[in-house]
Amino acid sequence: AAKQAGRNGYSIYDTSMRRRAERALAIQRGLHAAIEDGSLSLHYQSKHDSATGAIVGAEALARWTHPELGEVPPMEFIAVAERSGQIGRIGEWVIREACRQIGAWRGQGMAPLRIAINLSPLQLNQSGFVDTAARIAAEAGVDPALILFEVTESIAMENAERTRLMLRDFRERGFEFAIDDFGTGYSSLAYLQKFQVRQLKIDRFFVQALDEGGPEARAIIAAIIDLAHTLAIEVVAEGVETQLQASVLRTLGCDQLQGYHFSRPLPPEEFERHCRTLMVLALV
Ligand code: C2E
Ligand code: MG
Ligand code: MG
Ligand code: MG
Repeated sequence: AAKQAGRNGYSIYDTSMRRRAERALAIQRGLHAAIEDGSLSLHYQSKHDSATGAIVGAEALARWTHPELGEVPPMEFIAVAERSGQIGRIGEWVIREACRQIGAWRGQGMAPLRIAINLSPLQLNQSGFVDTAARIAAEAGVDPALILFEVTESIAMENAERTRLMLRDFRERGFEFAIDDFGTGYSSLAYLQKFQVRQLKIDRFFVQALDEGGPEARAIIAAIIDLAHTLAIEVVAEGVETQLQASVLRTLGCDQLQGYHFSRPLPPEEFERHCRTLMVLALV
């Protein structure tokens, strides 16, 4: 019986392994056509001034519907794109599309918003990426200051000295930077200062821990905010889902809030409506 179970165990294992490999292959193949066939899109989630609630920016988040698999989460297809060497193309499309949208909103008379774009580590390490990003923005007639790249803390710290030089290149072109998912990695404080980023985004893990009522999450967030403000860095809390979280974060001096409590990531037309119903703090 044990032998039988073992064999069954293996066959289940093989099946799930095979299913996962097949899914990854389907995603990889589907991605080839995704840019041309319009199945890839960007949704936008507002970032709010914590004191006034006004919209002060938005994060662009990639969305993709595969013809057979349906909606595939960005974590999944970005990971496949990284492994299959397609991240360069997809990442460039994201920047181009965000720039096109910034231009379209400007054309509609919307107040300019700073748009955040997530970067994968492979993009950051690609030689010539800074030039590519600058060229795309210039071709779209978009001021690089309207673009803020988000890089996760763990990636930024993997090779901190290289990151510092990269960020310097980006800053020289006028782009802004944020450290994403802050608090989950191990940042050297010295580097945080040298990076000269505009924003730190507190990981939603800490934000959600505020609900448990214990003093730890609150103390950690307070320490992050104090540190960031000492270095003249803005603090954004991500994953804010409740009124309670928002008010604690406001009390602690967090500059901006982002999360389902304010809005889910929305397709452009819905995002425009969301902006029209709320005050927008103009950038310029
Ligand atoms: P991220 O940059 O940390 O983005 C925040 C994620 O949290 C998004 O998930 C967002 O939809 C979700 N979120 C926002 N507010 C809340 C909330 O109140 N509660 C909860 N539970 N979740 C919230 P999403 O869109 O699935 O993206 C996941 C990750 O995929 C992103 O994490 C980012 O690392 C990556 N990603 C998304 N778009 C792109 C892209 O264009 N390029 C690259 N390289 N990565 C991307
Ligand atoms: Mg992000
Ligand atoms: Mg994040
Ligand atoms: Mg994340």
